[in-house]
Amino acid sequence: MSGLYAIGSCLFVSAQDHLVITALTKRFQAVAALDGVDLTLRRGELLTLLGPSGCGKTTLLRAVAGFNNQDSGSIAVAGRSLDGVPPHRRNFGMVFQNYAIFPHLTVADNVAYGLKARGVPRQDLRLRVAAALEKVQLGHLAQRFPDAMSGGQKQRVGLARAMVIEPELLLMDEPLSNLDAKLRIEMRGQIRLMQRELGISTLYVTHDQEEAMAISDRIAVMRGGRIEQLGTPESIYEDPETSFVADFVGGSNWLDAVLEGRSLRHGAGEPLQLPASFVLAGHPGGAVRVSLRAEDLQLAAPGAVVPALTGTVLVRSYLGRQTRLRVRLADGVEIDADVVGASPPVEGDAVRLAFSPEDIRLFDARSGARLR
Ligand code: ADP
Ligand code: MG
Repeated sequence: MSGLYAIGSCLFVSAQDHLVITALTKRFQAVAALDGVDLTLRRGELLTLLGPSGCGKTTLLRAVAGFNNQDSGSIAVAGRSLDGVPPHRRNFGMVFQNYAIFPHLTVADNVAYGLKARGVPRQDLRLRVAAALEKVQLGHLAQRFPDAMSGGQKQRVGLARAMVIEPELLLMDEPLSNLDAKLRIEMRGQIRLMQRELGISTLYVTHDQEEAMAISDRIAVMRGGRIEQLGTPESIYEDPETSFVADFVGGSNWLDAVLEGRSLRHGAGEPLQLPASFVLAGHPGGAVRVSLRAEDLQLAAPGAVVPALTGTVLVRSYLGRQTRLRVRLADGVEIDADVVGASPPVEGDAVRLAFSPEDIRLFDARSGARLR
């Protein structure tokens, strides 16, 4: 833990904590867009707000930017409250999905805009614009107008414009959503590289879980105006705290089951026995949801006595290293298995999908909370 220090107004913050959001709420008529958000962005990290459309990601980002005032709660940067600080005084760089660049200005003038507004002297301004355009590999297009550029190039202009002011924070709202799949992957790599190089604290918004996993130091999974789970990409994927997170990040197969002691009764076959690693902490049992990832299901060796689910192959999709099987279980539930190895079964074949009971993730059916 880094040292604690005191700021004038008696706020105690860790030197590591750059942006601190506390108990933030924001309503739009009947909708609680933000419903008590606590979040800390550490110095130099890239933290992603991840969640489905409408969960409050943009509202949270706009509150940090100063575009909409919260109903209650506080936002502080480097220990200082942002209350009453207008957007243009916050010195945050912003990148949006729709580029938001000026069509009547050249690329260079677009990037220079924020520096001019800050009264940066002409010579210094030219050097900084040139350096920023080099950084995003647009030096050769400095005199172009945005209309004559591709989506990827426009977004690199947006990135250069946000970076050139040497912002205290970088805020990015779905910056890659308008680009095609290949460019999205390329650009997210570039953004990550630049963010690391400059060590700039970044709040990044996406609804794409793969993008979030690829780019982030930490991910905050949002749902209904709240943060459902915060952690590294690995911990979010491997250790989801709720059924919502397990489903949204990485996807899952689900079995409805009834927990009795350590036994899981389900509609697709023999009851499953939970291994000793499940403590269950006095859970009374009852309706639960069983999560198994596609990669955790493999074809059972013939005759092997192992935990398995039995069903019929509906669809077989060759994916290179693995083959995805869509399998219908006895009770009609459909699940996916990503099996590896030679000569996978074909449509119509009966299969037995083995798994390690350690890979089961168990959730209370009503609350969605994880049972361990
Ligand atoms: P996300 O960015 O995660 O898709 P938003 O933050 O845009 O979600 O929206 C969160 C919720 O607040 C949604 O239900 C949305 O309809 C509502 N909302 C956002 N902005 C406004 C607004 N200006 N007026 C009314 N409702 C809004
Ligand atoms: Mg949004």
